[in-house]
Amino acid sequence: ILLIGGSLGLIVAVAAGYYLANRALIPIRLSLEKQQQFVSDASHELRTPLSVIQAHTELLLRHPDHTIEQDSKHISNVLQEARRMSKLVGGLLTLARSDSNQLELELKPVQFDRIVQESVNKMQMLAEVKDIILHCGIDSPVPMVADEERLHQLLVTVLDNAIKYTPEGGVVRVVCRKYTHSVHLEVEDTGIGISPDNLPHVFDRFYRGDKARTRQEGGTGLGLAIAKWIVERHGGKIRLESKLSTGTRVYITLPL
Ligand code: ADP
Repeated sequence: ILLIGGSLGLIVAVAAGYYLANRALIPIRLSLEKQQQFVSDASHELRTPLSVIQAHTELLLRHPDHTIEQDSKHISNVLQEARRMSKLVGGLLTLARSDSNQLELELKPVQFDRIVQESVNKMQMLAEVKDIILHCGIDSPVPMVADEERLHQLLVTVLDNAIKYTPEGGVVRVVCRKYTHSVHLEVEDTGIGISPDNLPHVFDRFYRGDKARTRQEGGTGLGLAIAKWIVERHGGKIRLESKLSTGTRVYITLPL
């Protein structure tokens, strides 16, 4: 009896130990898998512009007698892809630093309404080029403590998406409302919208609804992942509502 009891005890102890060790390892394994996925996605995303740059440079070298005018198409393609890469690397650095908690917010007293207005002004030209009407409604001054540069980045990302994914002649409306303890910002567009299948993934890193289209628009699939990080680090919330072929509305709430 002692022998059976002892063996059973040993089995239970080993099983419990295995279970507990596994439970402790799951988060480490998951974060390792996430990290590996991030590195693999990043390499894949960087390889595409690099291949395009390589191809155009090889074509340029094939005709050393060509004038700049004759080569201008290849040169502008190289420039476009280099810009894309630089945007990607910038985004990757931000996310890598935020993952390892190396990225701190630079908090100071700011006027949120002014940041919104400045971001809208900055994007006005881009909207005009596409004949898009960009409205901005701010009901009152919104003093708060926040990282001004990150809030600019957040607004420009959301506004850039609204303009990018809205066909010519559309409308983008920005509304900013101040409440007692929070500020609410809505950015609504009359654009292509997002399908219900794609909507839950828009905050995922490298997720792009329509790869071909967003590549053409210069998208990296990192914009909303970074936007979410900025909002959450400020203690706020961001969500999207969208209807295909009708438009998208982004809701941002930040505590004051
Ligand atoms: P991207 O650089 O591709 O724009 P984001 O992370 O900013 O990456 O957005 C992820 C995806 O979400 C986009 O590729 C696009 O499919 C979709 N999306 C984001 N904002 C909008 C919008 N206002 N209208 C339609 N689709 C959008």
